[in-house]
Amino acid sequence: MGITNWAGSQASSSVAVVDVERRSRARGVDAGDPNDLQSLRSIEEIVKSCRACNLCETRRNTVFGSGSATADWLLVGEAPGAEEDKQGLPFVGRAGQLLNNMLSSLGLDRGDAYIANVLKCRPPRNRDPMGEEVRKCEPYLHQQIGNIQPRIIIAMGRFAAQSLLKDTTPISRLRGQVHEYEKFGIPLIATYHPAYLLRSPLEKRKAWTDLVLARTTLEKPGEGA
Ligand code: URA
Repeated sequence: MGITNWAGSQASSSVAVVDVERRSRARGVDAGDPNDLQSLRSIEEIVKSCRACNLCETRRNTVFGSGSATADWLLVGEAPGAEEDKQGLPFVGRAGQLLNNMLSSLGLDRGDAYIANVLKCRPPRNRDPMGEEVRKCEPYLHQQIGNIQPRIIIAMGRFAAQSLLKDTTPISRLRGQVHEYEKFGIPLIATYHPAYLLRSPLEKRKAWTDLVLARTTLEKPGEGA
């Protein structure tokens, strides 16, 4: 196990694994109605012209997601920021650079994983997403998951973790455990958001243990496969 540059030298992989009832991998599981599963490309086109909430009034670009359409790892953030809105790609700012380093510590690059957000449009001045915006956007994430069928989901930050788990527990207590993304029966690990890690570098060690936990979960025979 590599001790990573970005996480500091105290990185440890000893974290609690909570008992999670596993379901078999959700091949072809519905995103609403199973017959409604559409290709990633067609969903991206739909998202580009989405006007389901007011964020369409202020966005420059929609930010659908990027990476491998058959990735084992799906990383989910909150919502696009200013740079992402400008480029139409997720995690391209400073937090994105750290995310690249985190992936690289796992022997992955962005093209091996898939990176998306709960919201596909930037909230003005990066305010917190609203419940109605999340509800309107959620079917797109479900379509992404149904297509990609990742073997592990990493929810990055309080907002993504709470919204995917439908749980208001603080991120400090959601992290460090294996949860399940119930709709698809996929193991989910919550960790700190890369932007938070830039502000609080001492927490990088914990984020590293979360990623190691994710890798261990993936590698466990019969888990997430
Ligand atoms: N923060 C996020 O949560 N998502 C991005 O795409 C960029 C920054």
